Amino acid sequence: MIDEAVGPSEPAPTADPRVFSTVGPELVDAVRAARPRRIVLQVPAGLVRDAHDLAAHLRRETGAPVDLGARACFGACDAPSRDEAPRADLAIVLGHSPIPNVADVRTTFYVEMRSSRGDVRAMAETLDAAGVPKRLGLVVSVQHMDLVGPLSEELTRRGYDVLVGRGDRRLAYPAQALGCNYTGAETVRETAEAFLFVGTGRFHPIGLAFAVDRPVWAIDPVQGSLEPPIDRASLVGRRQLLVATARDARRWGILVSTFAGQMRMPTALALQERARARGREAEIILTDRIDPRDLVGRDLDAYVSTACPRIALDDSANYPRPMLTPPEFLMALGELPLEPYRFDTFH
Ligand code: SF4
Repeated sequence: MIDEAVGPSEPAPTADPRVFSTVGPELVDAVRAARPRRIVLQVPAGLVRDAHDLAAHLRRETGAPVDLGARACFGACDAPSRDEAPRADLAIVLGHSPIPNVADVRTTFYVEMRSSRGDVRAMAETLDAAGVPKRLGLVVSVQHMDLVGPLSEELTRRGYDVLVGRGDRRLAYPAQALGCNYTGAETVRETAEAFLFVGTGRFHPIGLAFAVDRPVWAIDPVQGSLEPPIDRASLVGRRQLLVATARDARRWGILVSTFAGQMRMPTALALQERARARGREAEIILTDRIDPRDLVGRDLDAYVSTACPRIALDDSANYPRPMLTPPEFLMALGELPLEPYRFDTFH
């Protein structure tokens, strides 16, 4: 059976007029109808090679001037700000869905670059052969969202209990993975024996493993390859070790990003208050994109990042001092226990 939000043949909702599957005629028609004076096109790192051809295509098809944002875009959280593209009245963001509770700073079209490639029967056979548990939570990157229905249907036919969770207002779709928010998975965690991530790379399996204490399998729908569960104990153990090294830090930097979808100033102020109550110094440091070079040479012992939680979790080795997430910071202050480990969900 399929539990929770999505039936087997129900397509993922795409009623949002800002959302497009690919760079196709629908997008071109919508851009023409919007009659922009200037467009800013922002692409994720994986599409940089195609960025100039895409800009030329949009320019040719719509007749509007197109500028390219040089900064890679990691999510709908860091779409070009007004300062970055002051003359653009339309942004086109490739590779991401909108974040429903983050307001656009200008008219913005999201091109999710969806792909329905993937043989669901072969995928299900692979899961069967590997003995993946039958009560299975499904989590999918937005590019492969169209596989949720067919894969759920195929797995259900084979006796799986497919669990698809609907997350909070930061997620546009049931089953959706966002690197900072796995609340959809969390809603079905109690019932699920394991989770299956459908997509490529280790970014989401790692995030999901931090967020839910269940085995996380990962299948690449195009290659058909299945990765065994991430070693959650070792991921969490490394973070707990880092928390321990920061316990005696006296002078803290609290990093706040000014990107529209990464800004958590109220959290930063609350952390500053907690630090001071515990006799620590804590300075708020403002930036848009957090860059290790901006932190070199500062007289600080450790940092807590209130921006994208994956900066601390995935990139902390790049920083000159320990960098913790907000829950880890509270662990270091002794205000939260080390167990159970708490993922820094960005709501
Ligand atoms: S905050 Fe980080 S994980 Fe979340 S959408 Fe932005 S870049 Fe992705």
